[in-house]
Amino acid sequence: ALPVVAVVGRPNVGKSTFVNRIAEADEAIVHEMRGVTRDRSYHEADWNGVHFTLVDTGGIEMGTDDAFQGSIRAQAFAATREADVIVFLVDGKTGINADDEEVARILRKSDKPIMLAVNKMDTPNKVDEMWEFYQLGLGDPWPVSAMHGNGTGDLLDELVEEL
Ligand code: GDP
Ligand code: MG
Repeated sequence: ALPVVAVVGRPNVGKSTFVNRIAEADEAIVHEMRGVTRDRSYHEADWNGVHFTLVDTGGIEMGTDDAFQGSIRAQAFAATREADVIVFLVDGKTGINADDEEVARILRKSDKPIMLAVNKMDTPNKVDEMWEFYQLGLGDPWPVSAMHGNGTGDLLDELVEEL
């Protein structure tokens, strides 16, 4: 089986945009396991000849706040079980919130390699805006723009080293 890279983070940080930029095909891989495709979609990806499965998480659209936050937590736990590398996406425009901190708490307990990607950094030279993301305790933040592609190549170069 191919190595698995899971993209986690709260809604609207740009997970699907990020996955669609990196995945090879438009179509998600249909997973045989019942219930799995409902909240996660699997995509084939390749970077410099390294093939992997990219998992877009957090497709559940919810009712109550509790269930909503529970799903973010559940996705983070699932990623720590299933993935070989986890990309934790946060929103560089809005900054960190309580949901990000909750996901970070879960991910810090995992022994899987975690890459912290700060999305929506659409203009270059934003290194000076990265300081706040160190407080998540997940090492160096990687500024990216899933929409425009800035920084994604650097992140992938580092990511495939972990596979
Ligand atoms: P998800 O809920 O985490 O899957 O987030 P989506 O991929 O659906 O994106 C949420 C919103 O953020 C959409 O309106 C995207 O167009 C926008 N978005 C995603 N990536 C970027 C980015 O790099 N820059 C900007 N400015 N907007 C982005
Ligand atoms: Mg999405």
